[in-house]
Amino acid sequence: MKLLENRILTDAKVIGSDVLKVDMFLNHQMDIGLLNDMGKEFHRLFADCGVNKIMTVEASGIGIACIAAQYFSVPVVFAKKGANKYIGKDLYTAEVYSFTKDVCTTIGVSKAYLNSSDRVLIIDDFLANGQAALGLTSIIEQAGATVVGIGIAVEKSFQEGRARLLEKGYNLKSLAMIKSMENGTVTFC
Ligand code: 5GP
Repeated sequence: MKLLENRILTDAKVIGSDVLKVDMFLNHQMDIGLLNDMGKEFHRLFADCGVNKIMTVEASGIGIACIAAQYFSVPVVFAKKGANKYIGKDLYTAEVYSFTKDVCTTIGVSKAYLNSSDRVLIIDDFLANGQAALGLTSIIEQAGATVVGIGIAVEKSFQEGRARLLEKGYNLKSLAMIKSMENGTVTFC
């Protein structure tokens, strides 16, 4: 998606060799016009998948998922991080290692919001090594539901995530695919 690629080139900052900071338009301050165009694009890409639910992980995927969900007219369920007494004990859970924070977190979704007839589209802001997406696929599959697609805003294609998700047969589509970030310069696939 050219619009997102151009915004990355003008505003994003490369931190070290493998982290892209997009706080100014995607996951701290959010450019709603851009998110809206991304939502439309996710809908175009997954329109024929029979999506009836969108899932993401707390917190930075929630904005993108909600805007995309308006085009599908479906609810969004986000996996909560850590022990959460307010959503009860009847949860599907998965362990997810955070690439940016270097910690392992349990994510959980109440059994009330996922069932075996659900056809779920996963949406997230970034794909690095695939841990967040695989945690969500595990939760969806524990419920007997179907993962019909995985939509990612920014994929760092030089990391392991794409290969891991394709190996498991998932329908992965990313709006911007980064080939490398060497010497602070972003190059797209
Ligand atoms: P993965 O689980 O695929 O290893 O990493 C994806 C998750 O880590 C995303 O949900 C995102 O929040 C975070 N993440 C991974 N790489 C980056 C990055 O380069 N920049 C930012 N802002 N977040 C990232």
